Amino acid sequence: MKAVYPGSFDPVTAGHLDIIERAARIFDRLVVTVFPNPAKAPLFAVEERVAMLREVTRHLPNVEVDSSEGLLVPYVRRVGARVIVKGLRAMSDFDYEFRMALMNKKLDPEVETVFILTSSQYSYLSSSLIKEVASLGGCVTGLVPPVVERRLRELWPVQEPGPGS
Ligand code: ADP
Repeated sequence: MKAVYPGSFDPVTAGHLDIIERAARIFDRLVVTVFPNPAKAPLFAVEERVAMLREVTRHLPNVEVDSSEGLLVPYVRRVGARVIVKGLRAMSDFDYEFRMALMNKKLDPEVETVFILTSSQYSYLSSSLIKEVASLGGCVTGLVPPVVERRLRELWPVQEPGPGS
């Protein structure tokens, strides 16, 4: 069975990668698709998000990376899938994801949304929090894949704690 894991992935975090690796063990094929979110000001161009996702999923032979825009459900059908994978971090995600899943079901009753719970060590992680911390010079080692950490450090060098601080 083929599934689509959509998101803005601006940039991909260790929390996203954990969901990708676990979904890739459940489904035969997984398409990770970058959808630009018009409500969020982007940091990385869609092409760069796709490139970083390709690099960090290279070890997963049944995962492919794509980008799209517009409605999710027709896209899912176009790629020959019937399952949408979503990660759930906390109750705060639930209300929105619940409404979105029901709307998608209304748009196409044959497409199912499957939720995968975050691993506890990543439950507080979001791309926006990563960007906020990195932009202020904070260290995000272990919270994002190394390729993403390098790109963030190019944009915002890490401020090492000085002696006595
Ligand atoms: P964000 O910008 O909030 O990090 P995205 O739109 O890129 O989110 O997220 C894509 C999907 O990944 C969503 O289903 C989201 O709930 C899920 N997700 C994001 N971060 C995590 C995490 N740390 N653990 C589990 N799922 C996550």
